[in-house]
Order: sequence, then structure tokens, then C-alpha cells
Amino acid sequence: MAHATTHSGTPAVALPVISAAELLPWAVFGGLLLVLMVYFVGAEQGATSLIQGREVHEFVHDARHLLGFPCH
Ligand SMILES: [Zn+2]
Repeated sequence: MAHATTHSGTPAVALPVISAAELLPWAVFGGLLLVLMVYFVGAEQGATSLIQGREVHEFVHDARHLLGFPCH
């Protein structure tokens, strides 16, 4: 069957409606995760250091160079 419609022409699958108010907390949460990821890739154990050692630096080193953050 090529078309997923009922005989009346309406879609057979109801699409969920998500309001901006429902979406906002997840957008903020995702944005915070993104900022945290950019911090760890771009600055942790380089320009700043919250965690002792060099493990984070070595783990994100190629991504840091790829994205053009200053490294060494
Ligand atoms: Zn480097």
C-alpha cells in the first residue's frame, strides 16, 4: 500500500502536537549539555582545569584541534 490514509483522506497516524511550553525545559536541558560539552572539548585541562590530570585533555585532543580551539 503506497498511501497511509483513510478513505476520508485524513492521515492514518495522528501526529503529536508539542507546545513550546512543553518543549522549553528540554531545549534548556539540551543547551546546557551542549555548553558543557563545548567547555570540556574546548577548555578543560587547557585554558582552565576543574579535573586533575591529563585524561580529559588527551580524550578530547583531536576534537579540540579539529574545532580550532587553542591547545599547544
Ligand atoms: Zn593539541
